[in-house]
Amino acid sequence: MKYVVFNSQLKQLFNKCLGDNQCAAPVVELDYRHKGSLVIVNGTCLHNHHFEWRSQPLSNKMAIGNLLLAASILYSGNTYTTAAEIFDTFKLKFFSENDFYYIQRKYLLPVVNSMWNSQQQQLLSEYEGNTDLIVAGDGRSDSPGHSAVVKVTEVNNSYSMEKEGLIRCLNQLEEAHVTVTTLATDRHPQISKLMKDEYSTISHQYDVWHMSKSIKKKLAAAAKRRECAELQPWIKSIGNHFWWCSDSCNGDAIELKCWENYQVYCHTGDLEVFHNVLLKNVPKRIAFRYEGTVARTLLAALDNNTNVGRKQATTISGEKRWKLQWSKASHQFVVKKINDPKEFTFRTDLLNATLDMHKSGSETEQSAIKIPVLARNSTGRGEKPFKTEAIEGLISRLGKNE
Ligand SMILES: [Zn+2]
Repeated sequence: MKYVVFNSQLKQLFNKCLGDNQCAAPVVELDYRHKGSLVIVNGTCLHNHHFEWRSQPLSNKMAIGNLLLAASILYSGNTYTTAAEIFDTFKLKFFSENDFYYIQRKYLLPVVNSMWNSQQQQLLSEYEGNTDLIVAGDGRSDSPGHSAVVKVTEVNNSYSMEKEGLIRCLNQLEEAHVTVTTLATDRHPQISKLMKDEYSTISHQYDVWHMSKSIKKKLAAAAKRRECAELQPWIKSIGNHFWWCSDSCNGDAIELKCWENYQVYCHTGDLEVFHNVLLKNVPKRIAFRYEGTVARTLLAALDNNTNVGRKQATTISGEKRWKLQWSKASHQFVVKKINDPKEFTFRTDLLNATLDMHKSGSETEQSAIKIPVLARNSTGRGEKPFKTEAIEGLISRLGKNE
């Protein structure tokens, strides 16, 4: 447990000597220093006893509060900048951005990586030898140019990135002896071609959400033509009917034969939830380094795996809980389930693992996040110049323009 302590309150604790059990003489000199969130108090009493008090325990000379605070910022999916904004406003003493990234690189990233590796190994071993696995896949491209596993500079463009990501995922599953029978994705032509050419044993299905969106888009385009204007009022109902068919066919292909290319009820709804968790952990407006992006994506995956399949919440009397939510897509209120609250046990596990690693000094190369050679070599930005040279260049250019 930790508390916020005001400087004025802290002073009250040091009015008597702490240097000698028998002393208790008045303190004549006090000095406060801080190292990040750690405060160190040095005092001297009337009898010239010196004492030192620290607000945090140390582990291998590092204040544990600094380690855990940095860890909590990352593990809760936040950034140094947001945390710093709160602490600065509150005038709470804490560490610099450089110190944060030092702790992140040395301890936090390896911990996240090794916890993910062990969870992934466990999951893969559960599915090893399974021959009837349905997998849903969806890519996310980020403005800085890399998604979870593939950096845009490794491939030609961001469309190829989604394809390359999928190949890596499918190959990894194959290496783990997990057989995929069905893959559901969005309607991406490159992906469809890849699946037909390279993975013909896997049945490729379009995800119901993307499919329904695409049908409605096509109908809306058609309804704009004068001879098809009568379609307009039916678009929503047709979309709903598609959903209903998907939902009630129990994966039976025959009932859905009126819908081209769509046979098995597959939907990446859970993936949409994951993408929301991902958005919080890896905000698109921020450019993270490769290792940071990987770790934050893994954190989102740990969060997702802890909370996937939550049950609908119930009241004390056992009734199911619902809420009304405004839908931007349909411009009306829709009824949504309220789920049981999320659990964050993985964050506590990560914090404990961080303490263990720091205590034992066992941070190793093995648990570090591996950067693919291609991603390391090509940042896509060009070499960063020395700041002083860049400033000199700017000043000389400005001078020429005058
Ligand atoms: Zn004393």
